[in-house]
This record gives sequence, structure tokens and C-alpha cells, in this order.
Amino acid sequence: VRTILARNASAWTGPTGNNTYLLPGARPALIDAGVGHPEHIDEVASALAGAPLAAVLLTHHHPDHVNGVPALLERWPSVEILRQFRDGDIVRAGDRALRAIHTPGHTPEHFCFHDEVSGDLFCGDLVRAGGTIVIPASRGGNLRDYLDSLSRVRALRPRRLLPGHGPAIDDPQAAIEGYIAHRAEREGQIVEALRRGAATPQQLVAPVYGTLPDGLQSAAADSILAHLIKLQEESRAATDAEGKWSLTLAP
Ligand SMILES: [Zn+2]
Repeated sequence: VRTILARNASAWTGPTGNNTYLLPGARPALIDAGVGHPEHIDEVASALAGAPLAAVLLTHHHPDHVNGVPALLERWPSVEILRQFRDGDIVRAGDRALRAIHTPGHTPEHFCFHDEVSGDLFCGDLVRAGGTIVIPASRGGNLRDYLDSLSRVRALRPRRLLPGHGPAIDDPQAAIEGYIAHRAEREGQIVEALRRGAATPQQLVAPVYGTLPDGLQSAAADSILAHLIKLQEESRAATDAEGKWSLTLAP
């Protein structure tokens, strides 16, 4: 596997931007498309050493993972863009057979790709090293689905996670358990802030996240909304006609 950076570093995508993964071999394939930066496309081409790119597998449909598709099609017109999978599908990529694992939560259509021989799991935006994953409740994110997806991937016992952002993760069990613990901790903070009278996602940002750069405030509020919806689904919180949230009394 060769990691090829998409060259789109930002507060949102992280200090190294998005990763794409090139699997050379019988069916040269790229996992995630980057954003079409010319240097990214050139680096894919030089790593292929003249072989045509045969397939692009998309983990999900966020712009930082798919916007490079037109530029890749322009360079390799016959490349097959794979963006819809069924859970359990086997996808040929490079010299490997990857199993598509439906992992909704970050988005409804999110997939991971598991190489059951090497233990590599290409995990898109399920996990990232040194950060957390945004669950954008107003754009298809669902926290209960996300936690179920984390548990499911943990049960696969992958040997290594290759995320859409940041370095490879060599201890997947610890990383996933850390994520689950982090969400539980965050939920505790939100319950406590609701108890103290915060009533909207915006009001919950400061007590839960502290001070954030402006560009990340609304994403944080959206992640908090995902927690509130989970609490609502569990009958632990409710929202009134004005959109104000409160804890429901324990039965
Ligand atoms: Zn994403």
C-alpha cells in the first residue's frame, strides 16, 4: 500500500489533509479520490509507473474524499469509480480482495474495506489518529449507528487501520476502545451541561469543547446534536417546540 496525500491540509481535514491509498498490482486501485490537486494526480501517476489506474473505491461521499473523481477520470478515462457497495461485497483492488463493510454513522453510506489476509482495514472517516470523527447530525450523521459501527469493526480484529486522515493506527483495539470511551465521556459532559441549564447545541459547545476556532463551532454543535438525538432515542432527553433540549426525569 502506498499512502498518497491529497494536499488539502486545513483545520477541517487535518495537518496532512486527506490520505488516499494506492494498491498497485493486477488491478491498480485508489482508495478515496482526494480533491483533484494536480500534484496528487501526478504522484498517483508516477507511483503507477505507466500502468493505468483501474478503480477508485470511495469510503463515503464527503467532498474531501470524492472531489478528485473528475480529475482522475480525466487522467484515466477508463477508471471505474466504485461508490456503491453492499455489505460483504468482495472488491478486487491491487492484488488484494477487500471486503466492503457497511459502517454508517459519520454518513449513512460509509464503508470500510477489509483485507482479511493482511488484516489491513481502510477505515475512511470511521477513526482518525490524534483526533475525533465529526458526526454531523444535520447531514446524515447518526451516533448510535456510529457506535455500532465501531463495535462491529472492533469485532473484526483488524491488525491495522488506514484512515482517511492522519497516520496509520497499529493498535486498532486500543484506538476503537478509546473512541467508545471518548463518546461516553462526551455524553456525560453533555448530560451535566443540560442539568446546569444549557438547552441548545450552540449553548453546549463551550461547556463541552471549550474554546474552538470559529470554523469548527458549527461542526461541534452538529456533533452535540448527534449526542442529543441519541439521548432522545434512548428516552433520556427531549426537545420542545422551540428546539430547547432538557433531560427527561428518570422513571
Ligand atoms: Zn467525511
